[in-house]
Amino acid sequence: MRAAKHAPLGAGLPAGGGARVMKTRALGKVYLVGAGPGAADLLTLRAARVLAEADVVFHDALVHPDVLAVASRAERIAVGKRCGKHSTAQRFINKRLVDAARKHRVVVRLKGGDPMLFGRAQEELDALREAGIEVEVVPGVTAALAAAAELGVSLTRRGLSRNVVFVTPRVGDGEPANDWAAAVARADTAVIYMGAGEAAAITAALLARGKPSTLPVVVVENASLPESRRWLTTLGALPGLADEAFRGPVLLLLGEVFASAAGQAEAQVDLLPVAQAYLRRA
Ligand code: SAH
Repeated sequence: MRAAKHAPLGAGLPAGGGARVMKTRALGKVYLVGAGPGAADLLTLRAARVLAEADVVFHDALVHPDVLAVASRAERIAVGKRCGKHSTAQRFINKRLVDAARKHRVVVRLKGGDPMLFGRAQEELDALREAGIEVEVVPGVTAALAAAAELGVSLTRRGLSRNVVFVTPRVGDGEPANDWAAAVARADTAVIYMGAGEAAAITAALLARGKPSTLPVVVVENASLPESRRWLTTLGALPGLADEAFRGPVLLLLGEVFASAAGQAEAQVDLLPVAQAYLRRA
């Protein structure tokens, strides 16, 4: 018989899907769970079910207390990651997950937004599989989608935006440089994660790539939470926001689609006169 040209994906992996919590195995199972952007009612039902059954939850510092409260019977352990603050080394987190799965039945690794976007999920998945531990991913609402919902602006729009990129200018120690600016320059709509505090560098890099200084930019802080704040600006005026004291996680969203965000933003920041005229057209 001829070998199949394309191996079915998932062959040889433990059956995932459904998150039915295993009750009979001696070893526990680890769930990489998306905590969503903050609001607890944006957790998926599957995430809420796994959290409610969890024996132990290892969570990022950014995960909202209301979300953690869903894991009512679990021991909750904070394991990093907060910009500029001490964070638990990734290898140590991997080891703790493996150890916990040998002791507990339901182990949750809870990550902000969706675990598979800028969440270092792959390192944890690889370490757990290597240790022979069953692992399942439960997706979550990523910050970009919560921000779009809150702004009431579609990231795609016929005739204006047919693609969206999610990027971060951030690179880890020893990681090769990442050409995020090239990706943003080619995209109709772009969402920049972990870009707060780098506004001047972001503007310079994108202007150098030929993006217009009038490009609409929305800055969203604490998307999905009652304390959320939004600013509408332009690429050229964005560095004016650099001194703004951000109080929570921040996304930058760029693209022509955001010209229509004027009514949704709480404040317009330092709009250049030319940009104001441009945004009024939209
Ligand atoms: N896995 C996460 C992203 C982790 S990187 C997700 O899918 O959303 C952390 C960055 O996400 C923050 O620096 C910020 O840019 C963004 N972020 C996370 N939650 C946010 C929120 N509620 N509002 C705005 N930005 C948020």
